[in-house]
Formats: sequence, C-alpha cells, structure tokens
Amino acid sequence: MKVLKFGGTSVGSPENMRAVIDLITDGEQKIIVLSAMSGTTNSLVEISNYLYKKNKETARIFIGELETKYKKVVAQLFSSEENKKSGLKVIRQSFNTIKSFTSGSFSKVGENAILAQGELISTQLFTLLMNENGYKTKLLPALDFMMIDEDKVADTHYIRKNIKTVLKEVDNADYYITQGFICRNASNEIDNLQRGGSDYTASLIGAAIEADEIQIWTDIDGFHNNDPRFVENTKKIDRLSFNEAAELAYFGAKILHPQTVLPAKVQNIPVRLKNTMNPTDGGTLISSESDGQGIKAVAAKDKITAIKIRSARMLNAYGFLKNVFAVFEKYQTPIDMISTSEVAVSITIDSVQNLAGIKEDLGKFGTVEVDSDMSIVCIVGDIIHEERGFAPKVFRALNGIPIRMISYGGSKFNISVLVPTVNKKETLQALSDNLLNG
Ligand code: ADP
Ligand code: ASP
Ligand code: MG
Repeated sequence: MKVLKFGGTSVGSPENMRAVIDLITDGEQKIIVLSAMSGTTNSLVEISNYLYKKNKETARIFIGELETKYKKVVAQLFSSEENKKSGLKVIRQSFNTIKSFTSGSFSKVGENAILAQGELISTQLFTLLMNENGYKTKLLPALDFMMIDEDKVADTHYIRKNIKTVLKEVDNADYYITQGFICRNASNEIDNLQRGGSDYTASLIGAAIEADEIQIWTDIDGFHNNDPRFVENTKKIDRLSFNEAAELAYFGAKILHPQTVLPAKVQNIPVRLKNTMNPTDGGTLISSESDGQGIKAVAAKDKITAIKIRSARMLNAYGFLKNVFAVFEKYQTPIDMISTSEVAVSITIDSVQNLAGIKEDLGKFGTVEVDSDMSIVCIVGDIIHEERGFAPKVFRALNGIPIRMISYGGSKFNISVLVPTVNKKETLQALSDNLLNG
C-alpha cells in the first residue's frame, strides 16, 4: 500500500480537492494524509495569539471570518443537500470547539485543540466528498494512533500498533483518509508534530504499515537545488539520497518537514515528491541511492542564535567542553553548529526559550557573547568524492560574504556556514550563481 500526503495548497479550494480526487482514484487501496486548507493553520495561530493576549473581541472577529469562509467552501463542494448539511455540521462542531476557548483562561492545551481543527475539517469534508462521488472511503482518526512521548518524540511503537488496530476496526475501504500534523501527547491531550508536520505524519504512517512508497504532493515539481522563495533559477533535482534529503530538510528546505526522512530511511521506503498541479512530472525521488557526485543543493535555516564563550581556562584544559555541553543539556536545548579555537568556543542554537538561563550558567566559565538573527546555510552533496575540490569551490562562491562560522567534516554530506540573516539571500544567490549553476 502507498501513503500519499497532500499539502495545504493541494486541498486549498473546492477545485483543488476535486483535482486530488482525480489523482488518487485509480482503484489501488491507499492511505491519504491531508493538511489543513492553505492559510487555515496560520489563521488559527493568529486566533490563538489574540486569545493569549486576552484580546477576545479580535479573536471572535477572526473566528467569524474563518467560519464564513468554510461555509462557502461547503456550499461549493457538495452537490446533494444531505452532504451540504453534513458538511455544515462538521464546520459547526469545529467552530464550537474553537469558540469554547474564547471564555476563561487560555493555555497551550487550548491552542493545540484550536490548531487541530484545520486538519479535522479538511479530512472530514474530503471524506464526505469522496463518498458523494461514489468512492468507498473511510476516515482514520489520527488522534487514535498518532502519539508523541514526554520528550515530544514520535512514539513509533504506539503508532505501529494502533494504526493496525484502527485499520482493522474501520470497515474495509479502497481509500483511507487521515489527518496530518495532529497527534496526542503523553498526557493524552491533543498536540501536533510542529508546523509543516503533515509530511512527518505521512512518513510515520508509511513506516508503520511498511508502505511501498510515500508520496508528498505539493505545489512545486519537486526538491529544488536552492530555495525558490529567495533565489532565481533554481532547478529541480531528480534524485536525492535519504541522507542528502535529511540534511536539507533539517537545515531549512521548507518542502519537507525536518523529521520526515528518518522513518522512511529506517525502513528503506522511497519518498517521492510530486506536484499536484503537474502530476505527470516525475518529481523527486528520495531513496537509498543518489545520482552522481558533487554538490547537489543548498538550504537555509533562520532564527539561529550564536553563542561565543571565551575563557583563558580553556587553554590546555580538558573537560571544558563537557561543562559547556552540560549547560545545553540542562536546558534541553539542541546545538546545531560548533567551532572551537584555543580560548573560545562558538555554538549555535535554534531555540531561545532558555537563553537567559544558558547565558547565566555559561557566564561562570568565561565571557559570553550572543549574536541573534543569524542563518545557517547548508550545502549538501556527495562530498566524499570531491574531497580535493569541495571546500575551495564553496569559499570561492562565497567571496565577499561575511561568514561568522563554518562547519566542515561533521558529515560526508554537508558543509554549513553561519551568516547574518540580512545576508542570507545574497549567500543563497551566490551559491546558485557560482556553484550550482556555474
Ligand atoms: P505544502 O503545503 O504542500 O506542505 P509547503 O509550502 O510546506 O507546501 O512546501 C512547498 C514550498 O516549499 C514550495 O512552494 C517552495 O516555495 C518551498 N521550498 C523551499 N525550499 C525548497 C526547495 N529546496 N525545493 C522546493 N521547494 C522549496
Ligand atoms: N497545517 C499544518 C501547517 O500549516 C501542517 C502542514 O501543513 O503540514 O503547519
Ligand atoms: Mg509543508
């Protein structure tokens, strides 16, 4: 069985939903993971932010606007009066849930319940539409099998066991629809896999059922060699290895949620990226094989903070780095890049939630400097075969760019540089002009 995921734009309008139906209904049994309709999760985040700020009136106005939008979708989506009624019932239920959080105090539990409504609505409407069109379709409630543990890590054992139970419980169908993004957490509350998480849902399900293939259908023809939102003349890559795709996704390529590749890699399930608007194009195939050598692509991750600890005590001392790392462990803050000199060490993090505590604790070892608004630019390829030429090529391409840190040799697949975010666009463009298209 295959698992196909359709993103926000792919289900973003009644016409697009109908186009998805044409794409998936080839008689082969499959699981279809859907995102919320495009723009919905952003609106729900906005509503939650007003509720956090106790601006209930503005929240209510936004909720009303979104509800009106969905009522129009229902009116355009269904032919029969009965299905229009059922569609409106779905909308009413979800919006009643959202509205229930506009009185009383507001917390993360409320926010997560609100954010879940986008996927809960899109999947219920889509399942109704499939059945209206005569396709034997069942909804698999993701909240019955998608689980994260206390550390917010996907509980793959739970998912594997429970999706099989859910599949057995629902009647046999040709098409199974489920929600991307949403899950339950260790306290059994509604939670999610972070923004863009529907890709991750698809790969977790694919791994759990040992799918033949995982397909990620989106609004672009595949993985490009640079970020098309910032750079001109990007080109689609036909094939990427799991390792290459994982590095690019982790370092900011928005086309894939950062954790998507791992479950597929572990089970060796190919991941195909396809364009819903241009389905005949071959897209990008991510598998255990890559094609060719050399530099494949670049990606950038924003909102990076660099921390430099300078201490004479580091000179000739052992155990210094251990103490530094212990601080990040204490504050459960992952480190992305690191570089050391004789008397200083620079580290980057992408979460500033505990920055004050980290700074205070590191201050015990030496002077601490913090640079925010930085971006990691990651250059990925099969660099092991390019040992002689890789680094010089990169540095020539980046001539004139103010590089703050460099990481080379950490893996066989990537070289990363840290630059101020204001210089990110020119860094990406320089790499496209001088390295990828040169
Ligand atoms: P979906 O809603 O289908 O999940 P996303 O917006 O999350 O779609 O991801 C697709 C978008 O990712 C593309 O429209 C493109 O702007 C952006 N993107 C960023 N980097 C890349 C890349 N390297 N290759 C392709 N698309 C990229
Ligand atoms: N709807 C969620 C988001 O916008 C998940 C996804 O689209 O993948 O982040
Ligand atoms: Mg996405």
